[in-house]
Amino acid sequence: MITAPTRNPDEAFLDQLRKLGLRPTSARLDILRILTGSPGEALSAERLFVLLSGQGSGASLGTIYRVLNELELRGIVHKEWRSQNAMAKACYRLVSSAAMSVCHFLCPSCGHRQPVDDPALLAALSQLALKSGFGQGMADASISCVCNQCSAD
Ligand SMILES: [Zn+2]
Repeated sequence: MITAPTRNPDEAFLDQLRKLGLRPTSARLDILRILTGSPGEALSAERLFVLLSGQGSGASLGTIYRVLNELELRGIVHKEWRSQNAMAKACYRLVSSAAMSVCHFLCPSCGHRQPVDDPALLAALSQLALKSGFGQGMADASISCVCNQCSAD
């Protein structure tokens, strides 16, 4: 088991899966946990299988591919092709957790920042960035809007 440095990541994952309409199975949670623990790193299904087996998970390679496809469809992971021994290999990278910390509502008048708390929206934005030729996904986003405090003044 990996212990969380700050907060319990399982709660965030459970919440994220529920919002996406996915039942939080142990395979889905384990895969999210590993991808989150490897930020910015693209992992192949085989690599995930080795890491999961090392943690005592019984998830098969078929299950891992199925979960990765589900997460890709919902914009949680991004699939990219890496060439390895002259063969193209699919690798998967987490999209939304990186995006989550960098998208804020920002008040132009007082500088108040509030994180945008909508994993599905952030995942969609990040996927759009990737499709538009920005291969690293969304790096930073600020949505400018005047806060209640400033509107009241
Ligand atoms: Zn303000």
